[in-house]
Parts: sequence; structure tokens; C-alpha cells
Amino acid sequence: MRYVETVIFAFAKVGVTPRPFSLEYQGIRLKGTLHRKASHRLELDATLHGNISLDCDRCGHSYRQEVNEHMTLQISDEAVQDKDNLDIIEFLDGRVDLLFLLKSEVHALKGDYHFCPQCETEDEILELEF
Ligand SMILES: [Zn+2]
Repeated sequence: MRYVETVIFAFAKVGVTPRPFSLEYQGIRLKGTLHRKASHRLELDATLHGNISLDCDRCGHSYRQEVNEHMTLQISDEAVQDKDNLDIIEFLDGRVDLLFLLKSEVHALKGDYHFCPQCETEDEILELEF
């Protein structure tokens, strides 16, 4: 399959045949396919891969961490009734903005609480001592 560098898809133009795409933001590449499940529902099947720059929540040092995640998401072009289902993303203007999606994923990764490898090791040692 040839992964075309794509940022935005027209919701209406995605069919049942998976459409490959690939894009990058801040060192993280989102690569996968988009296909139609129902008239108002698309499915995204992709991997997030790359190196992200994080700031340690303990010592403040920035460090790089490898990201390698598989993700599946439902995309809707109409308002979703079931607001509890966080795996559905709405694009009400009919434009599936993959860059927006990738940016949110990267910001979510950065927003998580995380320790650099050194602090993580020190933490383990502390736990062993007690
Ligand atoms: Zn640290």
C-alpha cells in the first residue's frame, strides 16, 4: 500500500476501500488508513510512531521518548448522541482534519504525567529501600 502524505480528507469522498495516509507533527508520524463503516461513520486505523520530547515532572529535564502506539477511532460528520464514547471524533464540517487529530494526540502524550528514565530508576530504588 502506498501511504500518501495527506492532512485533510473530504468525509463524503471516503469509501469502503481503505484510503492510506501518512503525516507528521513534532517528530510523531501518524500512518494508517481511513474507510467507511456507515453513511455517517468512518473508521481510522493507524499507528503513532516516533520520538517525542517530554519534560520530566520530577526534575524538569527534557528527554526523548519513543512512541509506538496503535489506535482505532470512529469519525462522524454528524453530532454524536452518545457523548460518553470518547473513541468517536466529530468533524461536523465534513472535513476530516488528520493534522488536528494528530496534534491532539501529541498534546495528550505531552500532558500525561511522566518521569524521565533517571527519575524512574531512582523511584524504583526508593521503593526497594522501604
Ligand atoms: Zn527526571
